[in-house]
Amino acid sequence: APGLYIVATPIGNLGDLSPRASQILLSADIVAVEDSRVTAGLFRHLGAKGRMTPYHDHNADAVRPGLIARMASEAVALVSDAGTPLISDPGFKLVRDARAAGHTVTTIPGPCAAVAALTLAGLPTDRFFFLGFLPSKLHARAEAIAEVAAIRATLILYESGPRLGAALAALAEGLGDREAAVAREITKKFEECVTGTLTELAARYADAPPRGEIVIIVAPPGEAAPATAEDGDTALAEALTRLP
Ligand code: SAM
Repeated sequence: APGLYIVATPIGNLGDLSPRASQILLSADIVAVEDSRVTAGLFRHLGAKGRMTPYHDHNADAVRPGLIARMASEAVALVSDAGTPLISDPGFKLVRDARAAGHTVTTIPGPCAAVAALTLAGLPTDRFFFLGFLPSKLHARAEAIAEVAAIRATLILYESGPRLGAALAALAEGLGDREAAVAREITKKFEECVTGTLTELAARYADAPPRGEIVIIVAPPGEAAPATAEDGDTALAEALTRLP
């Protein structure tokens, strides 16, 4: 059916591509992609021959009206290089304009590094705040961290290996020494999730920038130790004893 399809793709393990995502990628009239070389790999895996058109930060404004027009009669799929489109990736304005034009927007949900890391970290998950990438300039970075210091939620940040140590040190400085986790290469061969306080993690990575893709998870303020599964179980058992 015509319209816009937001298609999540794997963040490392091709086995995470959902059957529904495959079906849409095989049948879409056109697939808007961040980087056609990256998505070409996925197309080969699928045996898909569909047409790709680039849609990235540098051409989005120019090509968006054409894509919106095509949605009236064609199925237009949007993928990013990895994970869920629109999450630290292009696509928000495409969805906004598709809606404004009255087109159907459908999502094919799937992998997202932010949520995957949150489920690995062993830190509270009831409230979380996604910051995406911190600014690279020192002053802007400190400001961005100060802005979220009082938020009573677990924080999720994307980061690159070379900047990890400095980012962790800046987080410790701006937030206090909270519990945190560094999730790396999620769903890939060398997946790991290292936990510790922000200063411990900053020291660990200061002179040893890790390879690969990274998500930082930081506990909410005043959460000295991560809640354990037992805590939840005990609370539940206590609540049950109070039931009539
Ligand atoms: N849209 C993507 C998503 O849904 O996760 C995120 C795109 S963003 C441009 C890329 C960043 O996501 C990387 O720099 C890294 O911080 C994080 N990331 C992506 N894949 C990852 C993985 N397999 N393990 C850890 N982090 C990952």
